[in-house]
Parts: sequence; structure tokens; C-alpha cells
Amino acid sequence: MSNKLIYLDHAATTKLDKNVLDEMMPYLTYKYGNASSLYSIGRESKQAVDNARKQVANILNCSPKEIYFTAGGSESDNLAIKGIAYSNRKKGNHIITSKIEHPAVLNTCRRLEKEGFEVTYLDVDNEGLILLEELKNAIKDNTILISIMFANNEIGTIQDIKAIGNIAKQKGIYFHTDAVQAIGNVRIDVQKLNIDALSMSAHKFYGPKGVGALYVKKGIMFDSVINGGHQENGKRAGTENVAGIVGLGKAIEMVYEDFDKYNMHLLNLRNKYIEDVEKRILYCRLNGHRTNRLPGNANFSFERIEGESLLLMLDIKGICASSGSACTSGSLEPSHVLTAIGLERKFAQGSLRITFGKENTVNDVDYVVESLVEIIERLRNMSQLHEK
Ligand SMILES: *Cc1c(COP(=O)(O)O)cnc(C)c1O
Repeated sequence: MSNKLIYLDHAATTKLDKNVLDEMMPYLTYKYGNASSLYSIGRESKQAVDNARKQVANILNCSPKEIYFTAGGSESDNLAIKGIAYSNRKKGNHIITSKIEHPAVLNTCRRLEKEGFEVTYLDVDNEGLILLEELKNAIKDNTILISIMFANNEIGTIQDIKAIGNIAKQKGIYFHTDAVQAIGNVRIDVQKLNIDALSMSAHKFYGPKGVGALYVKKGIMFDSVINGGHQENGKRAGTENVAGIVGLGKAIEMVYEDFDKYNMHLLNLRNKYIEDVEKRILYCRLNGHRTNRLPGNANFSFERIEGESLLLMLDIKGICASSGSACTSGSLEPSHVLTAIGLERKFAQGSLRITFGKENTVNDVDYVVESLVEIIERLRNMSQLHEK
């Protein structure tokens, strides 16, 4: 076992930034007041939450009143989709989404189907983009909501959000986007992009786990999903996770302060990795869009390789990465995203997602490429023996 740890799975989660933790610490210790209480330590907590709301609103170019804090990306997706669906049921019961959404969106839509809503799941092309013509054709008189993710968590493809927002606006349909992967990697102005609702999650941009935010444009009706007290303007009951919210605010501010430097760093590492893999490993294919993709994301499929074996052998070398295949009933099935982009059979089992973060270095790229060259050769030799 290597005592190295090379973390290359930033799409799964990121390490809490030290400065973010420092901002949070008082609210985990002596500033423990309930933000709904009227005495001074309560008011201090309320101010801290309000300040975080401003930090988020500044980044998205919206009003702080349009930001609702939640317990993460999944809850934000649920609140946006269920909230808007329930509240606008009289207008219609049709929702449009895509086949490559995160389970937080897909399973929310499936749940709504059971409750009598109708959902269209748009196909994507082989680079992971939805087709705008298909979106237009899917719109019906009873369509109330379009939910399309900003950037895909597996293959990194970034959608043409502005065009989707325009289509939704022209048709008078609400547009929600799961921007959990896009925050920090794309500049997002919800007004310019015509976004009506947007989900984010702090732990994907060096903030704490278990806290997220949802933007909903002023005037849009949406029901609450967690019922109880009046917190978050009655849209999300429960005593505020003050430390977490403070952390989210600080984290989003930091990642955008460093935006150009940070994203150039990711892009350099990612491009070098893609170049080196394509140069040194035969029979591979890059999944997702070559240019419209998240700067830190590289997702490759390798012929005649099992994703699980690859991950285990990388783990022995201290490398944390992710595979796009899941073992279901003994056979490796490609993920719903890889299936949707029409991955050829021979590539279906061996996918590897590497997602870079701010602490990664060029040495990490060299190390992971060296390791991959060695492991893939070994695995391919083994499978050859097997076939004989
Ligand atoms: C991680 C992720 C989520 C879920 O966020 P949590 O905070 O873990 O609930 C939703 N959508 C996308 C695209 C993600 O990458």
C-alpha cells in the first residue's frame, strides 16, 4: 500500500478550505445562538446568515431575498422541482428534463410521475449536449418546468444554458438548473442567462458538506418541501445550519475571487492529462465534449478494462478517482450518463473519471498517467490470458 494520497475526485467532494473553516469556527463554538432568537448571540447568527445570503447573491447577480439555504444539492433540487411542480399544478403537469441529470433530479422527476406529473426525458448527443430543437419540440401547452443541469458531474459537458433559458422565457416556462458542478468553474449571472431557479452545494467548492443553496427568482411560486417553522422565508423549515451557511458564503466568495487563476490551473492539469493519456494509452476514448466541458474534468473509457479493477489498483497507488460503471447483478453496466451518450459496447465497462482540484500539481498528473499506463497494460495482459 502506498502512503501517498493523490485526490482526483473533486466532482465527488472537495476538501474544506482552511479559511472557510476559520470563518465557521466561531459558529461551531461560542457563537451558538439560534438565528431566530432575539438576544445578541441570536442576532449575531442571523447577521451571519444574512451576510452569507448576500455573498451568494453577489455571485449570481440576484437579490439576497431570492436565496434559500438548504442541506445540500439534493435538497435544493428537490425543493426547486417539487416546489415549482406542486405550486403550479393548476397551470400544467408537464416537466422536461434530460437523461443525464443527477439522481437528485431524475429520481425527483420519477417520484412526480407517480404523483400524476408527466415528464419528458430528453436525449443527448454523443458529447452529452441536449438538442435545442428537441427541447422546443417537447414543449406543450401544459409544460410548467424545464430542469436541465448546467454541467454534468460524470462527463463534464456544459450545456448551452443561455439558449435553454431563452427558450424557456419565450414560452413562459420556468427554468431550473442544477449548477452543483458549475459553481466555481463558470461565471453565472442568473439574469443574463434567464435562469429561474438554480441549485448549488457547498462541498463541491471547498465548503462544508450538508449545506446548499437554492436561488428562486422573485415572484415564482413554489411550495416548501420541509415543513415546520418560518425559517428561510417559510420555504425551508428548521433551525439554520449557521456554521455551514457561513462556510458556504465564504467558500463561494473565495472560489470566485480566485476564478481565473483557479480555472486556468485546473485547465492546464486537465489538458496535460488528456494529452498524455491519448499519447501513451491505446484504445481509449474521451467521454463528453472536448471544449464545452468543466475545466477539471477528464472522463476516459478504456477498451477491455473493468472500471472497478482499475479503481482498486489505483487505490493501491494512493489515487482516488471514480468510475462510470456500476456493478449490477454481476455485470458492469455503464452509468445512465455513459449509456445516454451511446458509448460503444467495447468501451462500456472501463470508464475512469478524474476531476482535478486546487491542490493538485503537474506531478500528480505525471504520477496518475504513469500509474495508468502500468495498470492498464497489466489488466489487458491478464484479460488476454483469460481469453486464451
Ligand atoms: C453532488 C451533486 C449533487 C448532490 O449534492 P449533495 O450536496 O451531495 O446533495 C447534485 N447534482 C450534481 C450535479 C452533483 O454533482
